[in-house]
Amino acid sequence: MNTLLIDNATCIATCDRTDPAQGTELTDASLFVRGHLIEWMGPAAELPPALRAAADEVLDARGHLVTPGLVNTHHHMFQSLTRAIPGVQNAELFGWLRGLYPIWAGLTPEMVRVSTQVAMAELLLSGCTTSSDHLYLFPNGVRLEDSIEAAQQMGMRFLATRGSMSVGQSAGGLPPDAVVENEAAILKDSQRLIETWHSADHGALLQIGLAPCSPFSVSPALMRESAALARSFKGQGVRLHTHLAENDHDIAYSREKFKQTPTQYAQALGWLGEDVWHAHCVKLDDEGIGLFAASRTGVAHCPCSNMRLASGIAPVRRMLDAGVPVGLGVDGCASNDAAHMVNEARQALLLARVGRAVQAPEVRGGKTFFGCDLGPAEMGPRDALHLATRGGAQVLGRSDIGHLAPGMCADLAMFDLRTLGFAGGAVHDPVGSLLLCASPNAAYTVVNGRVLVREGRITSVDMGPLLERHNQLALALAQST
Ligand code: ZN
Repeated sequence: MNTLLIDNATCIATCDRTDPAQGTELTDASLFVRGHLIEWMGPAAELPPALRAAADEVLDARGHLVTPGLVNTHHHMFQSLTRAIPGVQNAELFGWLRGLYPIWAGLTPEMVRVSTQVAMAELLLSGCTTSSDHLYLFPNGVRLEDSIEAAQQMGMRFLATRGSMSVGQSAGGLPPDAVVENEAAILKDSQRLIETWHSADHGALLQIGLAPCSPFSVSPALMRESAALARSFKGQGVRLHTHLAENDHDIAYSREKFKQTPTQYAQALGWLGEDVWHAHCVKLDDEGIGLFAASRTGVAHCPCSNMRLASGIAPVRRMLDAGVPVGLGVDGCASNDAAHMVNEARQALLLARVGRAVQAPEVRGGKTFFGCDLGPAEMGPRDALHLATRGGAQVLGRSDIGHLAPGMCADLAMFDLRTLGFAGGAVHDPVGSLLLCASPNAAYTVVNGRVLVREGRITSVDMGPLLERHNQLALALAQST
């Protein structure tokens, strides 16, 4: 078994407590990995000499901050091909989708493979070690295997969700009929994928989830049957995922079509529970937050996408205070349009602090609010790091990743505190600087004990030819409509 020693880190932020403020931060510390697991962690001076002697590789971590690998809970990686497409740069969700569906109808298996690799490279360089992906279009012979193969080439820990759309425009849905699938075929393929690829093992590198796209693109029957299928794999941790309560149009569609709020609709279909996580939830009302908390239903908070599409500000502090599991998602590359997990955490921190503008100081609950009705105490740097690591792991149902401790998977990121972005900050507070200063790339990213980013470069693929091919495919896709 390969061994790896991360030696003499300036700081290791372990995220080892449920309360972000209480997490252990070790200084001048080392971490020893055997195989895919962390075997030892502590002050460098106390590292057993036998472990130092046993290390196949030593990474000199002086001047570095080590964090748990970041966990991305919501993405559509194929959208790397349609970033910044003119025509929808200033659109809200439904207009944005209507503009892009016809382009996405031209996706090919190679496009999915290459764009998934590019999206994963961007995530890995930002210190992200685990990502889910929500692929919901399968035109022209595209299969979920195209994204799975990309993950295997990149080495990233991956939760591939089998997305779906079944209600086209002619049936009152949003997507054109040409990109929706037959429901029986969706369910048959979903079962095949779980049986072929899903692993419930400790340290699993690949898992499968089921993810009907949204209330406005699939039927209630498909939602119910997808949940029943996932839960028929008892004890296997097959999770359920969809988009919910993303903006006011989404709420209006739910009220008009189903006479229910999105949370009531989800509850009626069996889509609340510890095995479910919903993306966005920007418009979750108090009843919704209460039902999510009581059922331990998770939320993928996507602050950049919510700002890009002007969907609104998700009530993250109220969700956390109520006990809702919350992680972060970069969302699809076409509505962010980046996939940088440290930046996403920074944006989560900043967005949580602003709310409704107030014209004059308001006094409520003994507090005075200036400028807006929230404040800086809504989310601190350690809260944001927690969302990006431990919170994400919880939302994806993983107890083997998300914090650093012996016995946990060796998924971690190392940031060089001697670089420009940390200047004048890391000397005071390395962890605070990671979230508050310019969002840095990772110097090293380790997944399952493998170094996938070394000195700021991807190790598993040659990025030059990959990016060249990706850009050719992006142009071809845009021109195919
Ligand atoms: Zn999404």
